[in-house]
Amino acid sequence: MPDMVVVRKEGLYCVPGQFYIDPWRPVERAVITHAHGDHARVGHGHYLSAASGVDVLRARLGEIHIDGLEYGHALQHNGVTISLHPAGHVLGSAQVRMEHRGEVWVASGDYKVEPDRTCAPFEPVRCHTFITESTFGLPLYRWQPEQDIFDDINSWWRANAEAGRCSVVFAYAFGKAQRILSGLDPAIGPIVCHGAAEPINRVYRAGGVALPPTRMVTEVDKADLKRAIVIAPPSAAGSPWMKRFGDYSDAFASGWMQLRGARRRRGVDRGFVLSDHADWPGLMSAIRATEAPRVIVTHGSIPVMVRWLRQQGLDASGFDTEYGDEDEAAAPEPAAAVQEASDA
Ligand SMILES: [Zn+2]
Ligand SMILES: [Zn+2]
Repeated sequence: MPDMVVVRKEGLYCVPGQFYIDPWRPVERAVITHAHGDHARVGHGHYLSAASGVDVLRARLGEIHIDGLEYGHALQHNGVTISLHPAGHVLGSAQVRMEHRGEVWVASGDYKVEPDRTCAPFEPVRCHTFITESTFGLPLYRWQPEQDIFDDINSWWRANAEAGRCSVVFAYAFGKAQRILSGLDPAIGPIVCHGAAEPINRVYRAGGVALPPTRMVTEVDKADLKRAIVIAPPSAAGSPWMKRFGDYSDAFASGWMQLRGARRRRGVDRGFVLSDHADWPGLMSAIRATEAPRVIVTHGSIPVMVRWLRQQGLDASGFDTEYGDEDEAAAPEPAAAVQEASDA
């Protein structure tokens, strides 16, 4: 049987269905796994996403021609049955299940196995071929339970507030920012959000996700800023916007913070290891749960994962894609990560 999904110059292409998944060049029909910039781009004729992802996509891409599909519901397109299943990555993130003549392929998009309060939890989907991401596909990546990380963030914030110092956390404006917000203790002080994250916060709240009250920086007195925590995108670091916070303490929240030297490279006081991607055990358990005999690995650590999966007796190979990582600014050179993996 010919492969149901192949890589074309525009992106991953479902051959019998004649549509693309997260294409990186403009196409007529695109199924979008989630609204991060490397997966959701402007310029496609028609978009399909999880129903809970439609408003996030609109907030990020503007006016687009889009249909939403509820998780677990199916539609037919050119003889292919398409359904979307929670990927546990960010609000509205989905795995794409495609069935054609009894053959089932699933494209994961980005996913995370540990449940969190900001999106529907990852759901394993049985299939013959699983196309998996591998952003943190090295054995050294192992996450702590998110509550441990939230406790660390809150105690760091509390200590800064008691010392009269503002706390600034750099985190990607869509997904990571809302996840951190969901774990903050508002009793410690005011929570300030950069303008890049606030429109996304609104979409999350409208989608039923409970987030603590947030304020724009202009709404907080200078004296109160000394007890505040500020959530800002990495691009705000070193910008004039930061000046108003005086002598602040800063931190970066990303899975890359697990690497030695990552915090120093960012030049921040603290690194919190918090990722919206599966860690190594998470990738392995997710792949096993699909029961797929064939696995195709995309963005991340393709050679390491492919080798490992083959050792487990699976038919594994890689797809060359143009997906990156939304925390790219924090990502190390791939060679550096592999070096550390072999050291670890
Ligand atoms: Zn993503
Ligand atoms: Zn991605």
